[in-house]
Amino acid sequence: MTSTSVPASSTAPADLRNARLYEPARDPASPNRNLTPLTTVIDAEGRLEVGGCTLSELARRYGTPLYVLDEATLRGTAQAYRSALAAHYPGEALALYASKANSSLAITALVASEGLGLDAVSAGELLTAVRGGMPPERIVFHGNNKSREELQLAVQLGVTVVADNWLDLENLAALAPTRPVQLMLRFTPGIECHTHEYIRTGHLDSKFGFDPDQLEAVLRHLQGCSWAQVTGLHAHIGSQIFELQPHRDLAAVMADALQLARSLGHPVRDLNVGGGLGIRYIASDDPPSIEEWVRTVAQAVAAACRERNLELPRLLCEPGRSLVATAGVTLYSVGSRKAIPGIRTYLSVDGGMSDNPRPITYQSQYTAVLADRPEADASETVTLAGKHCESGDVLLKDLSLPPATTGDVLAVFATGAYNASMASNYNRIPRPAAVLVHDGQADLVQRRELPEELLRYDVLPERLRPVA
Ligand SMILES: *Cc1c(COP(=O)(O)O)cnc(C)c1O
Repeated sequence: MTSTSVPASSTAPADLRNARLYEPARDPASPNRNLTPLTTVIDAEGRLEVGGCTLSELARRYGTPLYVLDEATLRGTAQAYRSALAAHYPGEALALYASKANSSLAITALVASEGLGLDAVSAGELLTAVRGGMPPERIVFHGNNKSREELQLAVQLGVTVVADNWLDLENLAALAPTRPVQLMLRFTPGIECHTHEYIRTGHLDSKFGFDPDQLEAVLRHLQGCSWAQVTGLHAHIGSQIFELQPHRDLAAVMADALQLARSLGHPVRDLNVGGGLGIRYIASDDPPSIEEWVRTVAQAVAAACRERNLELPRLLCEPGRSLVATAGVTLYSVGSRKAIPGIRTYLSVDGGMSDNPRPITYQSQYTAVLADRPEADASETVTLAGKHCESGDVLLKDLSLPPATTGDVLAVFATGAYNASMASNYNRIPRPAAVLVHDGQADLVQRRELPEELLRYDVLPERLRPVA
């Protein structure tokens, strides 16, 4: 892993420089309930600082757009999951980071060092996990349409494979593995929850997992397969969920499935309840805390197993968004302004839907402030537009801001999940750099792409070459 470490200009810890807490009502125990990273303060000059680094200085040093990740928030969140599982589940438990939320070597190394496992959905995410130092026995491999090559890689690495459908089973059998493959079976639990249609997965009309009516047939089929060892059952109901009841309902459905599997002679050890805990993007969002979510899930699983006289399984869960979102802040530079009298004022920034496709995809909302004047009078209402050729490329609608001018640095909060990982090169715009901040140090963890590099995979056939 290559990374350069640059000390930030502010050398003394925040508390020695009269820094004040930003977002005073912050919940230190559950970062997903806050808008900003745990270390966000206002320095003596009134500027925002995260991880001991002044945001506008990071913008100057690394350029914009810039993804900033706060190590303390990430570690704090991982610890919140671990300690809640230890406190509320009477058996063994493990949280697996759903790495699609933000996959990188640095984040993998951090969550691995916090004792978490990881879920991966592609060869790319698998390689990132392994090279980032995640032990294969803590990795599970998901996907509703895994390629043979991906399955082969998973088997080679010795990770647990989550079988999503019959084709997975056929392809795995065809690989004729020399050691039994640890298999988890994913099924659709038939549970409705209230979240965006695109990120709902638990209802019956979903592309993910075996239909629940098929589960028995799958388990019977696997009785005769010496290449497979069914170690777990998996279900995931969706994402950005604020309700707790669907997770309770899930526990009962999964305990029934566990009973069925064990009665058919599969010594299933793991019950994997997926992820889905929501986070606060805007002030009015009010998600449950990590502890409440874990307690609900843990107690429901334990109770459902007790009712059925089942030996307690190991409890696995797969937080993605709630683990990394709040640790992330994206910095942009303000560019042009277009005021349409009586209608709207557009402020354009130097990124947009290529570094954050969530607003245009899910109509997601965010919170943003000026990095150097977070508390100045917000006397203007503006719409923050991206720089891409789409009218829908809007990051925030009707945002209250102090009058901002070209060059001001804007900070958008809660961008640590599903921003970098969903980034594209639309309009051939290079993807941003990412820095990890901690105790006044900033480490580059993803280098900014160069326009030149975007041509790397283009091939110009000989007969189309311009004549010199
Ligand atoms: C996306 C996903 C997750 C993580 O969901 P979050 O809402 O980000 O916590 C976990 N498990 C599976 C199988 C997923 O597809």
